[in-house]
Amino acid sequence: MTTTALDHGARRAILDACRSLEQPTLDWLFRLVRCPSTLGNEHGALAEMERLYRHLGLEPVRVPVVASALESHPGWSPPLIAYEGRDNVAAVFRPRQPRGRSLALQGHVDVVPEGAADMWASPPYAPELREGRIYGRGAGDMKAGIVSYCMAFEALRRAGLQPAAEVQLQAVIEEECTGNGALATMLALPATDAAIIPEPGPGLDGLYTAEVGVVWAWVTVSGRPAHVREMQAGVNAIEAAGIIAAAFKEYEAEQNRAEHIHAAFHGINHPVNVNLGTIEGGEWNSSVPTRARIGLRVGVMPGNTARRVKADIEALVAGAATHERLRGAKVELAFRGFLADPCVFPKEEPIVQLAMRCYADATGGSLRDYPATGLTDGRHFVLHRDTPCAVFGPDAVDIHGIDENVGVESVHGITRAIALAIAGWCGVEHA
Ligand SMILES: [Zn+2]
Repeated sequence: MTTTALDHGARRAILDACRSLEQPTLDWLFRLVRCPSTLGNEHGALAEMERLYRHLGLEPVRVPVVASALESHPGWSPPLIAYEGRDNVAAVFRPRQPRGRSLALQGHVDVVPEGAADMWASPPYAPELREGRIYGRGAGDMKAGIVSYCMAFEALRRAGLQPAAEVQLQAVIEEECTGNGALATMLALPATDAAIIPEPGPGLDGLYTAEVGVVWAWVTVSGRPAHVREMQAGVNAIEAAGIIAAAFKEYEAEQNRAEHIHAAFHGINHPVNVNLGTIEGGEWNSSVPTRARIGLRVGVMPGNTARRVKADIEALVAGAATHERLRGAKVELAFRGFLADPCVFPKEEPIVQLAMRCYADATGGSLRDYPATGLTDGRHFVLHRDTPCAVFGPDAVDIHGIDENVGVESVHGITRAIALAIAGWCGVEHA
């Protein structure tokens, strides 16, 4: 069944219901943004998701991440912290008479740190609506998307309908550092015929056509301390870490050479990024620092694999450690966080085609192709479950930056598109 097969009255009723849900959409988004759900602090947002799923007439279940059960899975990434008290939340809708195709609606509740909070025009966890946009950490990435899929589901109910196939709603942790929340939740539930993840577009309503993989690496350099008077006798761990970081930048340049770039990323300037994300070290301004640690994020182009890039990193760090200025230093390399493969989301997939048609129907516009230089949880469905996935979402700006914001009209348009896509994919029955 396609949207064109959805009868005119049902389509009209669903779109009207979406309009009537525009204020509740903003209310729920504000509630979620008020939860500072950074790594290890997701409990408030997860509790809100339980409330939201109950509000939709569904019974939420908690889905733990059990490391011992998953660590040999190819989609697993080495975690940064333990999983106790941070269970994902899911809810499953079952129709009276399953006729259509089943669907997973998925989103992550975790957000990246707010950075320098004093640089925000309004506090990052005090959401504000200004000139048609909602500001706050996680507003775009991706609490708006989560609220969109929930309100889309609710719109069918308000229209007196319900999906004619199983629909899973999933709210997961750790999309921003491992993807293990998504993996555990996906595997705990039956496979569906398709998945939708409303991750934000890059300043416009975007359709993810591909995404890079990511590897996180941590390099710890232990130098030789000395008083600055005998500085030449010591090995400065911070300077040594800088030498190793420079080797990563050479690797980045190599990976961005044209012959390494997958067709999905043609025309994208510099698609493989190495980010020197964290640095800590040193003890005293007048002491040569003993130890420094840098944390890096390395992109992985489709065609390459996370495990191959991991091996490249091992070789490049071993090579950099032989630099003459690192003589006497100890260099340790650890992999914690993403070990994630890249992924392509073929546009020919029926769920993607349907999403594009529904978006056009709901908004009069068209989704822009977005080959993403960051990743989503979509890879788990495609790579590890053979479940086609449509990743598309609202116009968000400065995600991971200062003054993150999302366009209100864009969020409503995505909600309408998802509502029509649920009806079109699953079919409908009278509630
Ligand atoms: Zn995201």
